[in-house]
Amino acid sequence: QNDLIKAMFMQGIVLRPGQDLSPEMVEDIALNMNYLVTIKEASKVSSDPAQHIINKWDEYYKYNSKKLKIRPPVVTVMGHVDHGKTTLLDNIRGESVAESEAGGITQSIGAYQVEYNNKKITFIDTPGHEAFTEMRARGAQATDIVILIVAADDGVMPQTIEAYNHAKDAGVPIIVAINKVDKPNANVELTKQQMVAKLNLIPEDWGGDTITVEISAKSGKGIEDLLEMILLVSEVEEIKCKPNGNARAVIIDSKLDKFLGPIATVIVKDGVLKTGDFFIAGSTHGKVRRMLDDKGKTIKAAGPSTPVQLLGFDEVADMHSILYVVDTLDEARNISSIKKEMLNIQNQRISKKHVKLEDLMKMMEEDQKKVLNIVLKASTFGEIEALKNSISKLQNKDIDIEVIHAGIGSITNSDVMLASASDAVIMGFRVKADSKTIKEAEKEGIQIKKYDIIFNLIDDLKKALQGMLDPEE
Ligand code: GDP
Repeated sequence: QNDLIKAMFMQGIVLRPGQDLSPEMVEDIALNMNYLVTIKEASKVSSDPAQHIINKWDEYYKYNSKKLKIRPPVVTVMGHVDHGKTTLLDNIRGESVAESEAGGITQSIGAYQVEYNNKKITFIDTPGHEAFTEMRARGAQATDIVILIVAADDGVMPQTIEAYNHAKDAGVPIIVAINKVDKPNANVELTKQQMVAKLNLIPEDWGGDTITVEISAKSGKGIEDLLEMILLVSEVEEIKCKPNGNARAVIIDSKLDKFLGPIATVIVKDGVLKTGDFFIAGSTHGKVRRMLDDKGKTIKAAGPSTPVQLLGFDEVADMHSILYVVDTLDEARNISSIKKEMLNIQNQRISKKHVKLEDLMKMMEEDQKKVLNIVLKASTFGEIEALKNSISKLQNKDIDIEVIHAGIGSITNSDVMLASASDAVIMGFRVKADSKTIKEAEKEGIQIKKYDIIFNLIDDLKKALQGMLDPEE
């Protein structure tokens, strides 16, 4: 080993003991040492060991639609920083806690449920579109309705637009809450104008179809209207579930607790989660040892849309994975051990294959896709406009190009998550991506293309559409 490291060092390649090598590096090293190697792709364990469970759920939904029952909506609040997400969530929760408990606010488990007009609503109280989209990228969409909050003294801001694009792309119904209407400098009219101009959302009272509620998260004004609207939308949407039997749930938060060990907060999507149930979640498994509700009370069973903190994981669960109850501990153990092995082979998350410009045509043919999604980042508003304009002129009879998000500033993790959730390519114009973001993109299999000249960006897209873009170095 030392000889090898030394020999490679002399060639200008720095190796560490125990380092994983890419096929290219192995080839390089072998050549350097006068060996010829043929590299066979390690047989990729392609099928998920839990696939039969996932299939069973799909089939259940397909063939038993009559047995499905309405469940409470799960709501996420998104918007620009300081527009009032936390205040709103605290206000809604505060009332319910005050009613139900003398002890005051219990520690948050990441989600809570309230009752309004005898109907339940679940709120995820880690606001922000990053978590929302990361869940979606992992295939675990937890949210049924998004509240897009816009402060009336500030109007539609860049992160409002970003949050909106994330929600829109997920196809989740959106209710706009115009907040801070108590402030003397609040301008509801102007905010609505900006909703129309910047988000293409037309409020209902202006003849459009976007439910818009004016609120003060601070004083509580309008919050009842908002809750009513949430219930209305959820009625229209007919959010359904399998009401009983083995559960499946979405992990919205997971961590190692100093005293309790690995714990996670899950929101049950289907069935009833019970103490004693065996489960798998990502590459880990466990047995439900104890469940705490959002008020810190131990409960024995949790039905659809109920958030609970769960104890009994074998190890810390993958954030945002889906938890499936299985019949036996053996089954849970087997699946998780196969999954761990797969992860070891791939040394990364089991990531989906995502679109790359260079093999766009091939992928389109294979997957019969018709749309190329782009997340576009540039350094100025003018550049975005110019780029969008040029992109819209690119014609191809088979493929539509859709800019699902265009934003100003460097490429961030949240862009990568959006691209991963929507199978998009990220195109940056005169912007950077930091090393953490680049790593995350690699892990997710997301392509980031960066440009300084409009012509080059457009030319690459043109070539990609003709299947003539040269593979990346
Ligand atoms: P977040 O960043 O979206 O979570 O925003 P916060 O909830 O932290 O609110 C930012 C600031 O705006 C805080 O100082 C809040 O007290 C204030 N704020 C939030 N909602 C209202 C409101 O309805 N009226 C007024 N006057 N202030 C508000």
